[in-house]
Amino acid sequence: MKPDAIDFANELAQMRVDQTVASMRINRNAVSATHCEECGEDIPEPRRIAVPGCRMCAECQGITEKLNKHRR
Ligand SMILES: [Zn+2]
Repeated sequence: MKPDAIDFANELAQMRVDQTVASMRINRNAVSATHCEECGEDIPEPRRIAVPGCRMCAECQGITEKLNKHRR
């Protein structure tokens, strides 16, 4: 493979990763839960708009993300 082709392949792969990350972060069609799946608390409207598809309140989300980081 010529170096150009390798660069292009890398770029394509990176683009795909970026798109996947972006679609995971912002899915405007996703329906946000009105209540937290973890603690059952109301999820505030601004959070549901800011984080489409969220299933947990900010507090539980933070705890879950911390747990996921430790779990490697
Ligand atoms: Zn919660």
